[in-house]
Amino acid sequence: MPLQTLGLKVNRDNSAMHRLPPTVQPEPSVLPWDNRFQQLGTHFYTPTLPQPLPAPYWVGRSPQTAALLGLDAIWLGSDKLLQAVSGNLPLHGTEPLASVYSGHQFGQWAGQLGDGRALLLGELNGLEVQLKGSGLTPYSRRGDGRAVLRSSIREFLCSEAMHALGIPTTRALCVTGSDLPVRRESMETAAVVTRVAPSFIRFGHFEHFSARGQIPALRTLADYVIDRYYPACKTPAQFNGNTYAALLQAVTERTAQMVAHWQAVGFCHGVMNTDNMSILGLTLDYGPFAFLDAYHPGHICNHSDHAGRYAFDAQPDIAHWNLYALAQALLPLIESQHLAVQALDTFKPLCDQHYQRLMCAKLGLPAKGPTDPTVLIDDLLALLARDRVDYTIFWRSLSHGRVQNQYEAVRDRFIDRLAWDTWLLRYQELIALDGQALETNLMLKTNPKFVLRNYLCEEAIEAAQQQDFSAVQRLLNVMTHPFDEQPDAQAMAGYPPDWASRIEISCSS
Ligand code: AMP
Ligand code: MG
Repeated sequence: MPLQTLGLKVNRDNSAMHRLPPTVQPEPSVLPWDNRFQQLGTHFYTPTLPQPLPAPYWVGRSPQTAALLGLDAIWLGSDKLLQAVSGNLPLHGTEPLASVYSGHQFGQWAGQLGDGRALLLGELNGLEVQLKGSGLTPYSRRGDGRAVLRSSIREFLCSEAMHALGIPTTRALCVTGSDLPVRRESMETAAVVTRVAPSFIRFGHFEHFSARGQIPALRTLADYVIDRYYPACKTPAQFNGNTYAALLQAVTERTAQMVAHWQAVGFCHGVMNTDNMSILGLTLDYGPFAFLDAYHPGHICNHSDHAGRYAFDAQPDIAHWNLYALAQALLPLIESQHLAVQALDTFKPLCDQHYQRLMCAKLGLPAKGPTDPTVLIDDLLALLARDRVDYTIFWRSLSHGRVQNQYEAVRDRFIDRLAWDTWLLRYQELIALDGQALETNLMLKTNPKFVLRNYLCEEAIEAAQQQDFSAVQRLLNVMTHPFDEQPDAQAMAGYPPDWASRIEISCSS
């Protein structure tokens, strides 16, 4: 648009005297890119360039993740990064690729999938940097290779929020948006989320080569993962020295820990297909996820999940099922069904053990106290479910109650107050038995005040769709300090509004 149209007077005098000094954009440093996954060979991927995202703008940026990558403030503020992560400017040293994987979706073998809209740029500081929504790849199938603003903001915020809650997860560096229209259930606009993890290898990568009988490739992949991420598996003390059984067990342990965290914090993933399961036990591929509002163990957060396969309380069993699929894929390397089953059998006890440890911490009880708190925990969850008490608000108010030794405000959260009183007496008995060994303030560092509820995401998304990105950045700031009081953000710690229960999020993103 010519400046005159904006009503601005244009000074045509170009003499040096009147000219402002040019703004100096400091040049970002050269980045030491590496890509060890790429060195595995083209069996595992297809080199693919991102498609340009027209006229991109910043939607959100995470300084913490930038620091992990060694990107300073100059980089994070640079037009170079904006253009690079939007697919408009190749960064020297990167050789983007789309990896191939397969997987089981909703319990059925889905065959080849692959990075249909993601590209691995390379590694910085030992961390892989991936673009999601960067256009068509050889694995796009019927998709358009794009991600929409809505889902990109959700993934960006939740990755960072989960990390701040102490839950293993992939991270997110930034989201860039564009006015490029993208068709989903309605017309939306395109965005790219740049995400970061030590590796984006999934169970589905192993399933892919195993299903095709490509055993040398399967072995190359397993050896790479062991060498880089599970070196202790090279000389395992258990499993008769079987390296691949040890790998299966190590992945089982990491997965059990991750799911125990989900159950303790009230996180529902929504699409636990084997292609969304990280070989490092990281929460991966944020889609229709939800943090529970009212405690409802059977909560189904994915609107497309009609049978409730991925309901909240089904998550541990589904993780175990997925590990079976991984075990099946690794069997040609393990060469012993007995050892594979032995590794898989560690899932349930490990998951229970981690869950119990986390729940004890939430209750402010020592993990190995004189009495077993299992029944107390189960009875509490039954009470919360019966009265549909808000899960996060309950734990935070219990923490304050414990610190002040005053539980009236907690009592008010229940309908059946007599049942609560009875439970509280048992809880107090246990505290007395355990000699109050724990610092009570610890509960406030264990039970978050803030979780990324769906309605909070929705509000930030709606503002972003009107080109106001301040709510995204503000939500990021609040959610990256979930245990702090942050009085200015009090409204984000309250009950969700009525309309929150009508939010429907499906796989389509
Ligand atoms: P997801 O449900 O996001 O985990 O994706 C499952 C599979 O579909 C993966 O192979 C994705 O790369 C692919 N996919 C999802 N959305 C798209 C899209 N818009 N374009 C191309 N591939 C996609
Ligand atoms: Mg996926």
